[in-house]
Formats: sequence, structure tokens, C-alpha cells
Amino acid sequence: EGGGNMAASGEGDLEGLCGAERPGAGGLALLGLAPSAPSCPHGPALLFVKTSQGKEEGRRFYACSACRDRKDCNFFQWEDEKVSETRLAAREEYNRNHQPPFTHRQNVERYKSFVLLPLSKRRFCQECQQLLFPAEWEKHLDHQFLCNISTAQLKSPSQLLYPLENKKTNAQYLFADRSCQFLLDLIIDLGFRRVLSVGTPRLHEMIQSKASQGEDFRVRSLLLDIDFRYSQFYTEDEFCHYNMFNHYFFGGEAAREACRKFLHQDNGGRVILVTDPPFGGLVGALAASFKKLMAMWKETGKEGHNNQEMPMFWIFPYFFESRILEFFPSFSMMDYQVDYDNHALYKHGKTGRRQSPVRIFTNLTPSMIVLPVEEGYRFCTICQRYVSSGNQHCEICNSCTSKDGRRWKHCVLCKKCVKPSWFHCNNCNCCALQNHTCEKTYAGCFVCGKAGHKRSTCPSLS
Ligand code: SAH
Ligand code: ZN
Ligand code: ZN
Ligand code: ZN
Ligand code: ZN
Repeated sequence: EGGGNMAASGEGDLEGLCGAERPGAGGLALLGLAPSAPSCPHGPALLFVKTSQGKEEGRRFYACSACRDRKDCNFFQWEDEKVSETRLAAREEYNRNHQPPFTHRQNVERYKSFVLLPLSKRRFCQECQQLLFPAEWEKHLDHQFLCNISTAQLKSPSQLLYPLENKKTNAQYLFADRSCQFLLDLIIDLGFRRVLSVGTPRLHEMIQSKASQGEDFRVRSLLLDIDFRYSQFYTEDEFCHYNMFNHYFFGGEAAREACRKFLHQDNGGRVILVTDPPFGGLVGALAASFKKLMAMWKETGKEGHNNQEMPMFWIFPYFFESRILEFFPSFSMMDYQVDYDNHALYKHGKTGRRQSPVRIFTNLTPSMIVLPVEEGYRFCTICQRYVSSGNQHCEICNSCTSKDGRRWKHCVLCKKCVKPSWFHCNNCNCCALQNHTCEKTYAGCFVCGKAGHKRSTCPSLS
């Protein structure tokens, strides 16, 4: 692969992908999943093109769908590149060698034997992130490990495994207990019985552990995630190794079938897709995968849910609202602020709460999403939805307009409500932070869509 990669490093900056999809932005544009796409260890690669002022510029190329950091996967190939047989064979071998040491099946068998061991013989290697059998101890002697792994620990793998925080690829940010509990209660109150948990290991874990405790707890969950470490703790009916940027099931047809079977139980009734993807962008790729999962669900009810969309919660920052609505016009954004345990910026601190920018986007009727009054949310009878305490109903917009939970103010010139810290700038002909630099850029900011600044200095991120 060497040659291709070398060529790549001089080309478009993959780190810029975040802002890539917006037409008009300079950088890279995602063209999507091509039928004949080559594969890297993460499944079919995605097709990209360099853009400048909204126009395609230069050769199209394939890059890894999952890893936006070259260090994690440096797959690169020009679309029109002729790849020799030798290179193809080498690539296939490379892909094979970059699969996990154990298969999911092997891990399930290992788990079954592991729980039969006495407590004193149960170890977990923290370096390899792997359950260890006594015969394997020797190989891991100079690694850090945990002893006496209890059944309780085995039932909360998200606590046992360290979160993969590398921002660009896994971005594993775990729900704070309060938010996870809120989501589960909401799901139950809405009458759902099954949850397709796409990139929500902690929600999955909460459901699994309640299901194993109480007989009257009827909710079931199937986890789809790219983090293969979870295959050590869940069977093939509970976990599929899955890439949500290209809808790729690493376990092949059997895994895909397990997912289909899960969606089709109960004639496809009372099931919801809940997802909390990495925030890095590629909304288009995510949306394409979610549409495929929804289509998989739809294949069920030939009579039932004829024109209905599969119910879904997409958990994502509020500044992606317009991007999500582009792909899912039936969705609306809820005011609920989702909190995380290990996110320095988003978790609520000991003293008072930080504002989390993460919201729930859903195709369910907003009035059905009841938000906790104890946390200050209230019902707006005009908007027919729950809103943040600070979110005032604007008489002119005739809507509760705040996106970030603070009280917004109406600008008559912009004919809309804006953030409290913004002022109308006659130069830019829109509202912005007072100390912004008036510069005309061709493309609007990727995050908020406004002209005058780039994504890195977007006021809505501050
Ligand atoms: N808040 C959630 C975790 C969200 S973090 C919870 O507490 O349950 C994002 C999740 O998406 C992680 O579990 C991560 O492993 C997974 N993920 C990252 N990239 C992925 C990909 N390409 N395909 C599938 N899952 C992915
Ligand atoms: Zn890859
Ligand atoms: Zn209102
Ligand atoms: Zn207004
Ligand atoms: Zn204005």
C-alpha cells in the first residue's frame, strides 16, 4: 500500500473531513459508498473528492470509512487507479491480518468457560483489554491486570474496558448514569420492547443487566458497535461487530441475519433504533447507514407499518440540526441535554451543571417526549413540546427558539432569534459575536452555516 499512502499524504487533509460534506466548503466532499469500492480492515472504503469553492477538484479517491485519523487506518486509493494483482493479494492479506485475534464465536466460548472459573482464577488484562485464563497469565505477566473479576464486573463491561477516547476514530463518550436512566425510562414509557443500540454500549449494558435481574423487565437490546472488545461479553444475539459509516457487518451474513431477526421479532413492532455516533461529522455516511437499518426493519411488516418510519433517537450535538434534517426531514430536535461521564467539556461538574450541546433527534411526535420537570424542563403548549427552562417562547417567531438552553433574543433585521451574546453586524448583514472579524468567505461556516467565520472559530462552539 506504500505508494498510495505516500501520494495521499500530499493530498487532501483527511482531518478536514469534518467540514467536508457541506457543499461550498473548501476541503473534502463525501461522495458515498460506491458499489465497487475497495476494502480496508474496516470494510468498504468511502469515496471522497477534494473541493474548492463548492466545485469538485482533482481526482476522486477512496479512504477508510471508520478512521479519520491516518494513524488508525491509512487506506488510500485513487478511484481510477489500476491496482495490480499482487497489490490486491497483499491488501487482502493485510485485511485478514488486521482482524481481531479471536472470532466472536471463540470469545463467546471463552466467556462460557470463564464464568465457570473460581473468582481467584479470573483475570482481566488491562493492556490487552482481554479476559485471561490461567494458562495465558504467563504471557501477560508484565502487563497491568485486574484480579477476581466478579459477575457484576462481567455485566458492566463499559466500566471494565477503558473508553477509547481517541477523538477521531472511536470517540467513546459514555452516558452519565442519569442520562442513561432517563433514556431507558423514556423508551419504556413510550412502550418499546426492543432497542437496536447502535454505538450505545452503556445503554445496552443497562438494558442487559436489568433484563437478567428482573423477570418483569421486558426490554431487549442488540448492540451494534465497532468496538470488538464487547464481543467478549455478549453472544451473537446481543452484539454485532458493525461499522456505522458504511453499514458493514464484520461477522458477514450470519451477523446481518441476527440483526434482521432482532428487528423482525414481534412483527417488527415496538422496536426503536437508538444511536450516539462519534461527532466528527460524515453525517451523510451515518444517515445512509441508518436508512439501511430502517429499510431492514421495514422488510418485515407487509401489512403492519406500511408507510411508517422506524422510530429512532439520534443523539448528536445541536449544531448538526440542519445537517440531520437534510437527511431526515421528519426529525425534530428535543431540548434534553445529554450528559456524559468522561467528556471533559460536556459532563456536568460538581458545582452546578455545564451545558451539554448534545441533544436527541427523533421522528416520534415531540409532545410524546416527556422531559424531567425536576431538571427544569417545561411543556410549551403552543409548540407542543418540552423545552429547557431558559427557552422562552418568542412571539414573533412563534416558537421556542433557543438551541442551547439559554434565553435567545429576537433580531428584527435577521428576522429570527439569535444567541444572547450576538449582535447584529451591518457589515456581515447578520448577527455574530461582537468581536468577530468581518470577512467575506465564499462558503458558510460548516457548523452554523453563517458567513464570516470558519468552523474553528464558530461562535456556536464556544
Ligand atoms: N454514549 C454512548 C457511547 C457513545 S460513544 C453510551 O454511553 O452508550 C460512540 C460509540 O460509537 C462508541 O461505543 C464507539 O465504539 C462507537 N463507534 C465509533 N465509531 C464507530 C463506527 N464506525 N461504527 C460503529 N460504532 C462506532
Ligand atoms: Zn480502515
Ligand atoms: Zn413555544
Ligand atoms: Zn424570535
Ligand atoms: Zn441580526
